[in-house]
Amino acid sequence: MQQHDVSRVLVIAAHPDDIEFGAAGTVATWTRAGIDVAYCIVTDGSAGSNDPGVSSSHLAEIRRQEQIEAAACVGVSDVRFLDYQDGVLQPTIELRRDLTRLIRELRPQRVVISDPTTVLVSGDGFHYINHPDHRAAAEAALYAIFPSAESRPIFPELLAEGLEPHHVNEVWMTLTNQPDVFVDITDVHEIKLNALLCHRSQIDQQAARFVREADRRAGEQISVQYAEPFRVMTFYPEQPAESSMPS
Ligand SMILES: [Zn+2]
Repeated sequence: MQQHDVSRVLVIAAHPDDIEFGAAGTVATWTRAGIDVAYCIVTDGSAGSNDPGVSSSHLAEIRRQEQIEAAACVGVSDVRFLDYQDGVLQPTIELRRDLTRLIRELRPQRVVISDPTTVLVSGDGFHYINHPDHRAAAEAALYAIFPSAESRPIFPELLAEGLEPHHVNEVWMTLTNQPDVFVDITDVHEIKLNALLCHRSQIDQQAARFVREADRRAGEQISVQYAEPFRVMTFYPEQPAESSMPS
């Protein structure tokens, strides 16, 4: 189904550990194929504990290290942290500018975000409310991809930083109720679980079993042992923007 040559991918997520739940297996298949993958974690993860004895700044530092370790498991060494406050994220223009800056710097052909339209999630015997940070990060990321990253007049301050417009070809969305692409992660599933378990402050064996079961059910969709589901949008190359690039 791949219509574009992909050599660079950017994965944008609200929290440390989001990528390991939904996309780390797929990332492992991409890095194995020689694709450069970078992560951007929008919040500092400081709301990841209800223990009154845990300080937010200490937890944020722990989660940063856990995320760097989890990324390394699947061949990702470029991890950017935007350090917005966990739990109260809004899709502001400032966040969109920060994500636009990163897209223009890294120039990925494919960007992975969570599905900004997912409010409620229901599965086999489970229900949950999608975390508003996931939707806020996804909405800001979606509109950073279009129109902000590829439109010269938006955020002229980025031009002043030397960051030229960039057109993204594909958006892959995790945590979606409308999956249309299932990636076979059977060969890398243990690596994915190892990456997930790097988040020691958040993840226990029960959570790992939940992920294993979700991946098994996704695998049934394409008759493999384990898979990850995505909603994928592909875009035509944006000719006018390319041809209007200054030489
Ligand atoms: Zn999350």
